[in-house]
Amino acid sequence: DKAQPKKPAWIRVKAPSGKGYAETHRIMRENKLVTVCEEAGCPNAGECWSQGHATMMIMGEICTRGCSFCNVATGRPDALDAFEPGRVAHAVKTLGLNHVVITSVDRDDLEDGGAEHFAQTIRAVRHQAPETTIEILTPDFLKCDDKVLEVVVEAKPDVFNHNLETVPGLYPSVRPGARYFHSLRLLQRVKEMDPSMFTKSGIMVGLGEDAQSVKQVMDDMRAADVDFLTIGQYLQPTPKHHAVDRFVHPDEFAAYEKAAYGKGFLMVSATPLTRSSYHAGDDFARLREN
Ligand code: SF4
Ligand code: SF4
Repeated sequence: DKAQPKKPAWIRVKAPSGKGYAETHRIMRENKLVTVCEEAGCPNAGECWSQGHATMMIMGEICTRGCSFCNVATGRPDALDAFEPGRVAHAVKTLGLNHVVITSVDRDDLEDGGAEHFAQTIRAVRHQAPETTIEILTPDFLKCDDKVLEVVVEAKPDVFNHNLETVPGLYPSVRPGARYFHSLRLLQRVKEMDPSMFTKSGIMVGLGEDAQSVKQVMDDMRAADVDFLTIGQYLQPTPKHHAVDRFVHPDEFAAYEKAAYGKGFLMVSATPLTRSSYHAGDDFARLREN
């Protein structure tokens, strides 16, 4: 195995603390909700939670896929919990969120991949917290009928996010269960079904990609009419996960951000600690004001 490069100074992770953090934690536990912030050991948890922003993960804590960058357990998931959409909605309302990000594990075991459960969750949040904008971060529904995507789109989330995660050349080692062009096409189909819906995608860097392939991914996303882009540094959750190839310098992130705006993305976040859901609400609010 390759020795892991040392973490540079710009990857600084503040320990979660503060009153807001404790309050968010309490509300999540009370509603028996799983957050990506915790599952992924996200470096921004202290900051996000103290501001009442969090990403909830629905449909259980066990995933049918085993992406090499991801810390979620792989295995046979539990049955869906019919009360979960209501609990998510209740937590969103209690936290008073302006913007919520809802994601899930991959459910290849379900015929609709969990599409109806996603739709129910969106509708429940709309009902209980009508002012909250809703962003969903979905799996790829690879094994499902094409129609299941309509079920999710018709529930009208404000932002439909599906991450490409990495450049196509690294799919076999990073995202072995997925197909690059299937994911790209999914984003395009969402836009075709509802042109008023914002679409969003993201990748991690530092996995071994080169700058040329990253720019190609940007072009592919724009060809699929993707509106928002996130690029962040990959961090290895445990030594068993995909190795960090290198730490991309903040200046390179700045260059990616500039290139992406030049290609026509409406909103770009490219920094070492950018995560798919980092500052998602603030950025979206700013965009709606303009
Ligand atoms: Fe949670 Fe996203 Fe913030 Fe990380 S960036 S703590 S996953 S909301
Ligand atoms: Fe993790 Fe999503 Fe891959 Fe499952 S599909 S292993 S939750 S990244």
